[in-house]
Amino acid sequence: MNSRKKLIAGNWKMNKTSADGVALVNDIVAAVGKQADVDVVVCPPFTAVESVGRALEGSEVKLGAQNMHFEASGAFTGEVSAPMLRAIFATHVILGHSERRTLFGETDELVNKKVLAALKNQLKPIFCVGETLGERESGATLKVVQTQVERGLEGVNKDQAASIVVAYEPVWAIGTGKVATTEQAQEVHAYIRGLLTKLFGDAIAQKVRILYGGSMKPANAPELLAQKDIDGGLIGGASLEARSFVELVNAAVAAK
Ligand code: PEP
Repeated sequence: MNSRKKLIAGNWKMNKTSADGVALVNDIVAAVGKQADVDVVVCPPFTAVESVGRALEGSEVKLGAQNMHFEASGAFTGEVSAPMLRAIFATHVILGHSERRTLFGETDELVNKKVLAALKNQLKPIFCVGETLGERESGATLKVVQTQVERGLEGVNKDQAASIVVAYEPVWAIGTGKVATTEQAQEVHAYIRGLLTKLFGDAIAQKVRILYGGSMKPANAPELLAQKDIDGGLIGGASLEARSFVELVNAAVAAK
């Protein structure tokens, strides 16, 4: 038992039109929109962030984006900035997701610039780290995660650190149906908390939520969420339907 409030975040990726997104959150809000025991965040694609935000008004469910540029404005065709997201009342932003790293070439250095820009603009980063299957099989998991955490959070100060959410997402478990065992997940979560302790001190490290991501479903969530250092989930596939997402929120309420 710890004092960290659990957090369930939905990463819709490139799914849902604006209208479909509003319909989905209407169902989520009807089911869990008033509970405050667990933090709930939905991260629609950019075209739906504003409309979904309006549909969330008056509920406890928070709004996030899936990416952003580190500059505030300028000649960056196709990008959006932290102030733009703040202006439509987003509170969170997913940064360094493995799909951004592998498909769009995002490096630790780029992710770090985005983390710093998000924090400067009072957006809470959901900062993703995790190893590939090859890295796990060669025994490099902890080293890979260490490098991602240290480089990604470089320059973050102690005042900012508590508002960061870290998501441990083993790349081999994302969208594959393969889930890390509770022991594998807890080991890395505890290791990340140790890294955060070295960077920011124990008091802050104890406040930072570390989410698990990678094929989390209602069936496997209770066991994962019962682990000491697993403070919630970053949910891809199961966040696209109200029923499974709401079940995950309820699993987190039960595990709190
Ligand atoms: C994700 O992409 O962040 C994720 C965890 O996806 P899934 O739940 O579908 O594995």
